[in-house]
Amino acid sequence: MSEVIGVNTPGAWAGAEGPTIPVIVGDGIGPDIWQATRPILEAAVAKSGRRPINWLEVPAGQKAWEDCGEYLPESTLAALRQYRVGLKGPLGTPVGGGIRSLNVAIRRKLDLYACIRPVVWTPGAPSPVKRPDQVNMIIFRENTEDVYAGLEWPAGSPEADELIRFAGEKLGAEIRPSSAVGLKPMSEFGSKRLVRMALRWALDNRCPSLTLVHKGNIMKFTEGAFRAWGYEVARKEFEGLTVTESEAGAGDGRLVIKDRIADNMFMQTLLRPDEYSVLAMPNLNGDYLSDALAAQIGGLGMAPGANVGDGLAVFEATHGTAPKYAGLDRVNPCSLILSGAFMLDFLGWKEAAAMVRSAVAGTLQARIVTYDLARQMGGLSPVGTSAFGQAVLERL
Ligand code: NAP
Repeated sequence: MSEVIGVNTPGAWAGAEGPTIPVIVGDGIGPDIWQATRPILEAAVAKSGRRPINWLEVPAGQKAWEDCGEYLPESTLAALRQYRVGLKGPLGTPVGGGIRSLNVAIRRKLDLYACIRPVVWTPGAPSPVKRPDQVNMIIFRENTEDVYAGLEWPAGSPEADELIRFAGEKLGAEIRPSSAVGLKPMSEFGSKRLVRMALRWALDNRCPSLTLVHKGNIMKFTEGAFRAWGYEVARKEFEGLTVTESEAGAGDGRLVIKDRIADNMFMQTLLRPDEYSVLAMPNLNGDYLSDALAAQIGGLGMAPGANVGDGLAVFEATHGTAPKYAGLDRVNPCSLILSGAFMLDFLGWKEAAAMVRSAVAGTLQARIVTYDLARQMGGLSPVGTSAFGQAVLERL
């Protein structure tokens, strides 16, 4: 993936010094899962003969607010920019802090325009589907546009009323008076760079297909354009390397570009998961589908992720701060552990990453699990976060 992102070549950290990686421990259960994750990543790195990582804890969230009166200090963003690869626990949304979401702020300020979520089942994890072993997809979700751009105004506000008036007078578009109004911007630039990153990933990793997921049958000029721009990037920039589904012949060897309407895609991922590999999609579809797919591999506690831009990547647990469990040593640390493994892959430290995944699988197969998985598996006494981490460590 480092080539996709255009930063350090794999293995570039083989010098005398190991990499410095800024860490945002996060709010709520952040400290619980980080304490379990850190020794596992360190042991895997040491066992695979790599230089130790220098963790640089940087403030963000509630603790940053208490320590320095800011939720997202500029020094934290500067460290992420400088070191280019970071690891992040969950951050709560400040109440009345003037920030819509710290996670969105980090993505925006660093232009981390792709949210990448590998969805791969770990042997031993519970699943509501019969063949979770067939689930092997990776989602590239556009992170900066769409209805998540933060462009919305409350019902009755002067801004909403002005937009309604403008739409009626200038565009002939009737909107019911006193409606709340939001905008859905989707640009050629934003859509193409997302699809480009997904295409590079698919080709570098010899994936069989890339599917553009959209709702272009209804939203023709936004989601429909996403589809058209996606095909255009594949055709023009990856000529000879890609082929559309209708043109593909057996044993062609080229990357097959497909597209699916989003609602159909939810069904496809349940009924025919083995036919899909890399998925590229706009923001809202991606948010929904990421969590739906996470359910097939055991839930949010098992889902790793990364927010990635050109030359920058922040790997993160995909769930929130689960405040009711904060400090109780109860929650599942796998999302952060597996995000760490994804990060090791990115650094080119594939053996260390494989060791982490294999130790997690070994622990689950021994039926050592936290409460969230025990609940799905039945008849098990769950272990706490630290005991689970220790069990993984012992299997490394
Ligand atoms: P959440 O923190 O993800 O928690 C929702 C539920 O998911 C928990 O009550 C728990 O379910 C389960 N869960 C989450 N993490 C788990 C783990 N590691 N192990 C086991 N179960 C886990 O979502 P939320 O309660 O909606 O949001 C809380 C705060 O987090 C909000 O301030 C939100 O803005 C923020 N948030 C941050 C991020 C991020 O930093 N990337 C993402 C989402 C939300 P049960 O109750 O069933 O046990």
